[in-house]
Amino acid sequence: MAAKFDTPKLFENIEIIDTPKYEADTMAHSSPFVAKAKHNEPIGFPGELVDNWEEKAVFRLGELVDGSRALRTFLDSCVKCGACADKCHYFLGTKDPKNMPVARQDLLRSIYRRYYTFAGKYFPKLVGARDMDKSVMDEWYSYFHQCSQCRRCSVFCPYGIDTAEISMAARDIMDTVGKGQKYSNEILGKLHTIGNNLGLPEKALANTLEELEEEVEEDTGFAVKFPLDVKGADVLLITPSADFFAEPHIDGLIGYGKVFHQAGISWTLSSYASEAANFSMFIGSSDNLKKVAERIRDAARELGVKRIIVGECGHAWRVAYSFWNTLVGPFDFLDPRYPAPQHIVEFTHDLIQRGGLNLDKEANDHRRITFHDSCNVARASRMGNIPGGQFILPRELITASANNFFDMSPETIHENTFCCGGGGGLLTDDLLELRIKGAMPRMQALKQVVDEHQVNTMVAICAICKAQFNKALPAYQFPMSMITSLHHVVGDAIQLGTKD
Ligand code: SF4
Ligand code: SF4
Repeated sequence: MAAKFDTPKLFENIEIIDTPKYEADTMAHSSPFVAKAKHNEPIGFPGELVDNWEEKAVFRLGELVDGSRALRTFLDSCVKCGACADKCHYFLGTKDPKNMPVARQDLLRSIYRRYYTFAGKYFPKLVGARDMDKSVMDEWYSYFHQCSQCRRCSVFCPYGIDTAEISMAARDIMDTVGKGQKYSNEILGKLHTIGNNLGLPEKALANTLEELEEEVEEDTGFAVKFPLDVKGADVLLITPSADFFAEPHIDGLIGYGKVFHQAGISWTLSSYASEAANFSMFIGSSDNLKKVAERIRDAARELGVKRIIVGECGHAWRVAYSFWNTLVGPFDFLDPRYPAPQHIVEFTHDLIQRGGLNLDKEANDHRRITFHDSCNVARASRMGNIPGGQFILPRELITASANNFFDMSPETIHENTFCCGGGGGLLTDDLLELRIKGAMPRMQALKQVVDEHQVNTMVAICAICKAQFNKALPAYQFPMSMITSLHHVVGDAIQLGTKD
């Protein structure tokens, strides 16, 4: 049964969240369900904790630091300046000092020092080095699943130490010795066999899209299409599978459909690659990362498309933007006139610049909108050919589609954005307490624009953020319906029929 907990209180009239007084071990009990053999084995990991797991974990850590100069540097270079200590939303929301980024890093660093540094081998107590044992593994399992790999702490670290990379390495080691997390591993297994995180088979997907076409035509009077497996279409759209069925995600999919419809550009979804998400990044598994990305490349080749566009999914865009070309490139079979890959926001933004969409901003006059920058878009990718395009383009889409836009406090947006609380493979109900407490800083910033500007809509371009806010908003006494997709707002402004 889920533990009972108190939702943190939001304050009146504050811009900056004070550093809380820490309370030791308040989240020591938080730990996600452990994966079973049926979740681990299909994605290439041992079914359960292996014999001699302590030695094997240390060996795997050695392989990882040998293979990544960045990881070794991150583990070697912390000077304990404390600049990151109050930058993690999980520390701010839970007050547990082990959720300070530097403390989280030290969970891995203490083992690295013990086995891979001179001082740690001969003077372990002097340098905080520890032997690998069950108590260490228990702490790792709990606290490396209290990091959403959002990278906010790295923005404030004078050495750029990236706790997300350390968290990914720790999860890789745990998977390698057979202690995986059920939520992420089960989802990856479904993706490998069925093509999407939901386990939605081709026929069900086709039916869903047909029904959606009927609903949109009934609603708008226009035959907006949601095509599947159309060979020779110009565009393959890769979008999170959440877009196929749940609010507010599906409103975004309707918006994409309206954009393609009015622009007169042929497009298709793929039943083989019906998922943008790639949870392999969360567990630090490069083999799985590549395998999932390969599905998308294979689908694009098979369908003979000219371009690949990625829908509203934060970490999927990081994987696509930062890793696709080195993982599964080159994408030289696509039309070289377009970026490969391209984000749906870039695509729609470009159309607006060229007068390709007719937008009526007044259609959104009932909305007073703010924008939540999603971590993986904000701190791990770019968009468009301008510095900071990942911040500018989504906001320009909103202001092109609506009259009332209000940004949240500068300390909580752009590269300083706070995680929604559910990223990094933590969007599971067995971590609900962590998720709700970790959402506090974003909810605090939201409260300010609600109080000052009567904001009633928060827009995001990440499926995980949208799903997480569905839970977090009501917990903080905001209406669940406040969260929606950016392309919902764009889609509502498009004047269908005026360019057909
Ligand atoms: S990456 Fe994000 S969640 Fe992880 S320690 Fe840093 S701020 Fe916290
Ligand atoms: S800000 Fe960087 S150097 Fe300073 S304590 Fe944190 S991780 Fe270490």
